[in-house]
Amino acid sequence: MLIDMTALPQGIKPHVSCNKPGTAQKHRIRERDGYTCQLCGIRKDPDLSVKESQRITIDHFIPRSLGGRNTKANLYCACYQCNQVKADIFFKTFQEAQIYVLLKRNMLKKLRILGYDMTKI
Ligand SMILES: [Zn+2]
Repeated sequence: MLIDMTALPQGIKPHVSCNKPGTAQKHRIRERDGYTCQLCGIRKDPDLSVKESQRITIDHFIPRSLGGRNTKANLYCACYQCNQVKADIFFKTFQEAQIYVLLKRNMLKKLRILGYDMTKI
C-alpha cells in the first residue's frame, strides 16, 4: 500500500517499516543454511547469546538499500565478518559475491599480518 504523503498534515510523518526480516524468518534461514556462512563456509554456534562478531547473521543477496526484499531466495546466512565485507554491494551472481568476499578477507588478513593499520586505509 502506498502512502499519499501529500494527504498527511504538515509535520506528520507516516510510520515506515524498517523492512528487516522477523525473528521467525531469521530462524528459518539459519535452520535452512545449517548455521553455516554461505560465503566462507564456516559454521557458527546457534547460541544467540554470544557476542555479535561470533554469530551467524542474515544477509540480503540484493541489499535492502537497493530494493532487496525479505524473501527466502534473497536471504542467506553469513558470518559477521563476511557480512561486513560484502556490505551493500550488488553482485550479479552469488559466486561473484563469494569470490569478492573471500579475496578481500584474505587480503585484509595479510595486510594486518604485515602491520598495516586498517583503520587508516
Ligand atoms: Zn563467512
